[in-house]
Amino acid sequence: MQNPSPTLQATYFDGKSAQAHGVALCMDQGVLHIVNANLQLAVPVNQVEWPERTRHGKRMALLAGGGSLQCADGVAWDAWCKASGLRESGVVVVQQSWRWVAAALFSLVLVLGALYQWGLPMLAQAVVAFTPQTVDAKIGQSTLAALDEALMAPSGLELPQQEAIRTAFVHVLQTQAPDDMPQWNLAFRKSKIGPNALALPGGTLLMTDDMVALVGGDTQVLMAVLAHELGHAKYRHGLRMLVQVSVLGAITSLVLGDFSTALAAVPALLGQAHYSREAEREADAYARQILVSARISPRVMVTLLDRLRAQRERDAKNTAREREGDKPSGSSEQIAAPALAWLGLAFASHPADAERIAFFQGDAR
Ligand SMILES: [Zn+2]
Repeated sequence: MQNPSPTLQATYFDGKSAQAHGVALCMDQGVLHIVNANLQLAVPVNQVEWPERTRHGKRMALLAGGGSLQCADGVAWDAWCKASGLRESGVVVVQQSWRWVAAALFSLVLVLGALYQWGLPMLAQAVVAFTPQTVDAKIGQSTLAALDEALMAPSGLELPQQEAIRTAFVHVLQTQAPDDMPQWNLAFRKSKIGPNALALPGGTLLMTDDMVALVGGDTQVLMAVLAHELGHAKYRHGLRMLVQVSVLGAITSLVLGDFSTALAAVPALLGQAHYSREAEREADAYARQILVSARISPRVMVTLLDRLRAQRERDAKNTAREREGDKPSGSSEQIAAPALAWLGLAFASHPADAERIAFFQGDAR
């Protein structure tokens, strides 16, 4: 049994007239007593409505039949409620505490983050698994056509040199289990994108003349590039990325309501930056396995990454010099946005971080 609560001075309105009555409130065994010299009311507590309150508002309780109680001294009211064993509703407590608000926001971010991190890739993987390979091939064809229009020109490499690289790769792949092998074909292009390579959906491995030039035609290094790109083809990263970026785009447009072109680029960029890292790891692992079984040291990849970095630094210097040289601004290359999206998967888009270098630096086992 609970002892009677302390009393609290409050104001009572009967709900019929505007007259305020000074009263004392006291709670006893589930009954609220409202008392003054002329008044003696006993109301079961469960028939009293305790509206949600804000931290600074005046306190109030509503009685059945239209009466109400008010108290300007919020601190005294709260202390009395507590001493009377009145529980506040969870919502009030939560609303009043910034810690709870912060915690709620934090959990929301966690949930969204988990969806972004794991939910979307899982969804994309499922979609890709149910998509026939012919779809990859179709997308690959139209991507190649778009790239050719925007960024590529026919290769300047002699056909025998192209054929030699192709044949070397066929030999490398003969050391692999045949059932493990995705469909592939190799195409060379002269391009504005510098030394680079990419795997289009459907298995077209695209290599730029500049890439061959960068490594001085070193076939072993080129095998490493092609093995990495074949990894992208094997795991169908192109299609996976496309699904993920499309879903992110759809969600963004749902949330933001408006699909302005500036915002449209955001999910694509987000998707690329995050998901491509995982895809690169998979492709690197596949490349390393191919190199090892073809008895090529995986360290050739480190050589390549070093050369690409040196090339990037040269490019950056040249760009800076061009800016100083007061060139007209129209001289910079405008790259078509859809073509650019695919470059997120291109070889040179992934600088050599320490993890990648360490991965290829280990001895061939
Ligand atoms: Zn890659």
